[in-house]
Amino acid sequence: MATDLSARLSAHENKGLYRKRLTLEGPQATDVTIDGKRYLAFCSNDYLGLANHSALIEAACHGARTYGVGSGASHLITGHSTAHHALEHALAQFVGLPQALLFSTGYMANMAVITALVGRGDAVFADKLNHASLNDAIVLSRATFTRYPHLELARLERCLADTKASRKLVATDAVFSMDGDIAPVAELLALCERYDAWLLLDDAHGFGVLGKQGQGILHAVDGFDLQSPRLIYMATLGKAAGVFGAFVAAQPEVIAALIQFAHSYGYTTATPPLLAHTLLTSLSLIEREVWRREILTAHRLRLSRGLQSCRWPLLPSATPIQPLRVGRSEEAVRLSAALREQGILVPAIRPPTVPKGEARLRISLSAAHSKEDVDRLIEALHAVAGNV
Ligand code: PMP
Repeated sequence: MATDLSARLSAHENKGLYRKRLTLEGPQATDVTIDGKRYLAFCSNDYLGLANHSALIEAACHGARTYGVGSGASHLITGHSTAHHALEHALAQFVGLPQALLFSTGYMANMAVITALVGRGDAVFADKLNHASLNDAIVLSRATFTRYPHLELARLERCLADTKASRKLVATDAVFSMDGDIAPVAELLALCERYDAWLLLDDAHGFGVLGKQGQGILHAVDGFDLQSPRLIYMATLGKAAGVFGAFVAAQPEVIAALIQFAHSYGYTTATPPLLAHTLLTSLSLIEREVWRREILTAHRLRLSRGLQSCRWPLLPSATPIQPLRVGRSEEAVRLSAALREQGILVPAIRPPTVPKGEARLRISLSAAHSKEDVDRLIEALHAVAGNV
């Protein structure tokens, strides 16, 4: 059969965009083995170092013995278990919103919120640097899609003031996944209140990391109105929480609409209840073990001190996502390869994931890293800076 797939794949490769997967021989950790070689890794979203925690492994085994391994059905048939229910209740309490609803992934949660709440003739406004799942969801919803320049609230306000659509939604990453910077969420909510729009906050990278107890962005800013009916909060459970899944927290009416209208909720098998059971233990570790966030802060400060004289700047970020701006894609790729030669994994992020000329190394810190790990990265970066 004639297809143009091979031509497209070659063109993709020729543009330097071809992506190869690395295959880990063992668990996600700061020390990973690939093709028999060990690496110090600064790549994962396991910010608190929980993905391989013995208490979570125990909880997963106990969960499997109690609930089996598969949920066997969608939530709307017989896939919803007491484990899901208990986790939804605990998550809502933890983030301080009335109700929560579990999803298998953050991608599906974003799909659900946007497609269930808006459609043709409605308007969605999105930060230019939002995660792809938000953009895909907006396209699928068929609402008018307007992207505003990164963090430019004055521009967003003009868009909100000008639109004739009756239903409006503003969607934004709370912590931007490639830059690590934080959206001004209180100001965004005030705008949404003024113009009668929903605000969807995607806190995939803030949940577990921001806020004293790790409750996420809503607890890391002053003056935030948790009672606002405009607020819809989404966070993932496969990053700082160390397991898998995602949830949306909002007013009961919004949650009811998701259950009734969202295809990525109703038309998919529920995640195994053993994962919900495991996440209850994860949640209590997130809440209690404040030291994990303190270590992350110490690592972040250590890295920025250590790289002060480096020829590439770290982008300003108060989160574990620490991008080192290199500029040219080829240079970022060479730098990442040079680090790999030294047994250190740091991904190079290139356009189209980031704007042209802004290729970078995306350093992800974890509470599971030691001070010595961070020092090793700093030294290696200084060494390769001289050679690239
Ligand atoms: N939103 C953001 C900002 C993300 O970074 C990601 C994952 N990279 C997602 C949503 C999707 O979450 P999940 O991996 O659970 O599908």
